[in-house]
Amino acid sequence: MGRLQGRRTIVTGAASGIGRASARLFAREGASVLLVDRSAEAVEAVAAEIRATGATAVAMAADAGSEAEVKAYVARAVAEFGGIDAIYANAGISGGLTPFFDLTVETWQEILRVNLIGPFLAIREVAPLMIAQGHGAIVCTASVAGLKANAGGAPYSASKAGVISLVQTAANAFYGTGVRVNAVCPGLIETGMTVPIFDHARKRGSEGKLGQLNPLNRPGQPEEIAAMACFLASDEASYVNGQAFPVDGGLSST
Ligand code: NAD
Repeated sequence: MGRLQGRRTIVTGAASGIGRASARLFAREGASVLLVDRSAEAVEAVAAEIRATGATAVAMAADAGSEAEVKAYVARAVAEFGGIDAIYANAGISGGLTPFFDLTVETWQEILRVNLIGPFLAIREVAPLMIAQGHGAIVCTASVAGLKANAGGAPYSASKAGVISLVQTAANAFYGTGVRVNAVCPGLIETGMTVPIFDHARKRGSEGKLGQLNPLNRPGQPEEIAAMACFLASDEASYVNGQAFPVDGGLSST
C-alpha cells in the first residue's frame, strides 16, 4: 500500500525538475495526480509516462500565477478526481541573477506573481475544499534562498522568504480544521532551473566546486526533494504543520 494510496493530488510545475520527480513519486505511492505546468506539451509527456505505469495522471496547461488559471486547475482536479487531498504548489521561476541596481519593477512583479502569489492562490482555492472534508495537506516549494538571501537574486529570495511566511500564516489561518501547510526549502538541485549555473561553472572548469557548497559535497537531485514533498503530503507527517524544511545537503547549516 502506497503512502498516498487513493489520494487525489495536484502538482504544479510538473513538466520538469522537482515537480516532475514529485508527480512520478506521488503516482508511485498510489495517488491520482493532476500535473499542471505552463508548458503544455512537456507536461502531457510526463502525464503519459505516468499513465503508462498504470497510475492515474492528467495533464493541464495553466499559469500557476494567474488567479483565473489557478481556479481552473482546482476545478479540473475536482471534476477529474471528485476532490483534492493534497497539493504541491511547486511551480517557480528564478528570474536570473540581475545586479541589484538593474532590477526593474516588472522583474519584481513577475517573480512575486509566480513564486509567491501563485502558492497563495493555490492555498486559497484548495483550502475551503479541504476544510469542508476535514483533512488536507498543502506543500509549497520555498528555497534556502528564502532562509538566507542569494546575492544578485533579491526578488527570488524575497519571494521564497514570502513562501515560508505564507505557510506559517496559512497553517494558523486553518486553526482546528485538520488542514496542514508546509514548505520544502531545496538547496542547489540539478534541474532545468539550474542548467545555466552548471553550464557557467563547467565553462570555468569549476563545476566540482558547486557541490562543495554543502557538507555532502554534491548538488542534490530532484528525487531528493520529491521525497520530502511526498512525506509532507502523506499521513506520515500528520503532526507536521506550519514548517519550512531545508533539504540542502547541509548548506544552510554551514
Ligand atoms: P524547473 O525549471 O526544472 O521546473 C519548473 C517548472 O515550473 C517548469 O516545468 C516550468 O515550465 C514550470 N513553471 C514555471 N513557471 C510557471 C507558471 N507560471 N505556471 C506553471 N508552470 C510554471 O525548476 P525546478 O528546480 O524543478 O523548480 C521547481 C521549484 O523549486 C521552483 O519553485 C524553484 O524556485 C524551486 N527551487 C529550485 C532549486 C534548484 O536548485 N533547482 C532550489 C530551490 C528552490
